[in-house]
Amino acid sequence: MQPANFDYYRASSIDEAESLFKANADASFLAGGHSIIPAMKLRLSEPGSLVDIAGINDLKGISKDDDTIHIGALTTHAEVENSGVVKDGCEALAEAAGMIGDPQVRNRGTIGGNVAHADPASDYPGILMALGAKIITSGRTISVEDFFTGLFETALNDGEVITEIQVPVLSNGSGAAYAKFFNPASRYAVVGVGAVVTLDNGSCTSCRIGVTGASDHAFRASAAEDALTGSDLGDDAIVAAAAKAADGQDMLSDLVASADYRTHLCGVILKRAVSNAAERV
Ligand SMILES: Cc1cc2nc3c(=O)[nH]c(=O)nc-3n(C[C@H](O)[C@H](O)[C@H](O)COP(=O)(O)OP(=O)(O)OC[C@H]3O[C@@H](n4cnc5c(N)ncnc54)[C@H](O)[C@@H]3O)c2cc1C
Repeated sequence: MQPANFDYYRASSIDEAESLFKANADASFLAGGHSIIPAMKLRLSEPGSLVDIAGINDLKGISKDDDTIHIGALTTHAEVENSGVVKDGCEALAEAAGMIGDPQVRNRGTIGGNVAHADPASDYPGILMALGAKIITSGRTISVEDFFTGLFETALNDGEVITEIQVPVLSNGSGAAYAKFFNPASRYAVVGVGAVVTLDNGSCTSCRIGVTGASDHAFRASAAEDALTGSDLGDDAIVAAAAKAADGQDMLSDLVASADYRTHLCGVILKRAVSNAAERV
C-alpha cells in the first residue's frame, strides 16, 4: 500500500524542527522511519507533513561523563549495540539493542524514535525502566517511569523533540540483563524484561525490573522487586518473585498471545533476566 500524500521538510537544527512542526498541521517527525513509514503505508498514520530530523548533528553520538551515559536521540540500535561506552557502562542496554528486529531495522531505527513511538512491544522501554533512564527533550527532563503513559502514548507534548537518553552507569556490586520472548515473525517483544540487581554480602539490597510487551505500556514489576529485595537471589527467591511478575497489571490480549499466556511469559522471562543479572554482579 502507498501512504497518503504528505509534505516533506528537512530540518538542520532542533529549533528549525520545532518551528517546522508548529507551522504545519498534522506534522510528524521522521528519524529512522522504521515505525512511522510502515504505519503510513498501512494508512494507520496519515501525517500532513513529515519533518525529517535525521540530519541534525546535535542529536547524534554517545558519550559518558562521570556516572552517566548520554545517547543522542538519533543513535541507531546498531550503534547502541556496538558502542564500547555502552558495553563498558551498561552491557544490558547493548544486549537489548542487539535483540531489536533484524540488521536492517537496527541500522536505521533510532533510540529516540523507538521511545517516542511507544509501541507496547518495543524493547527499550523495559530495559530503560530497569536502568532508571531519563528522557531529555529540548525543554525538560522526563523520568522514564513518567514517560510511557499508554498505548503509543507518551508524556511528550506535540512537537517536542527528544534530544538524548541518559542512562546511569551500573554501580559496583550491581548486575543487569535483558531477556525477551521474540515474536517469531517481527522479532518484537511479546514480553521483554530488563532487570538490575545489587548485592551486598550475598543479600539483594535493591532491584529494579521493567517489563515491556505485556501491557499497553511498560511497567515496573513492583511486587516481584519487593519479593527479591532482601533475598539471596537464589533459585527459590527468583521463582517466588516470578510468580508476582504481572501482579496488578492488565495484560494485552491479541492475535500473538492471550492475556493468560502473557502472564505466564512475564514469569518465565523475569526469571531469565533476574538470573542473568545476578550472575553478572
Ligand atoms: C520489521 C520491523 C521489526 C521491528 N522489530 C522491533 C523489535 O524487535 N523491537 C523494537 O523495539 N522495535 C522494533 N521495530 C521498531 C524499530 O525499533 C523502530 O526503528 C523504532 O520503533 C522507531 O525508530 P525510528 O527512528 O525508526 O522512528 P521513526 O519511525 O522515524 O519515528 C517514529 C515516531 O517517533 C517520533 N520521533 C522520532 N524521533 C523523535 C525525536 N527525536 N523526538 C520526538 N519524536 C520523535 C516520530 O514523530 C514518529 O511519530 C521494528 C520495526 C520493523 C519495521
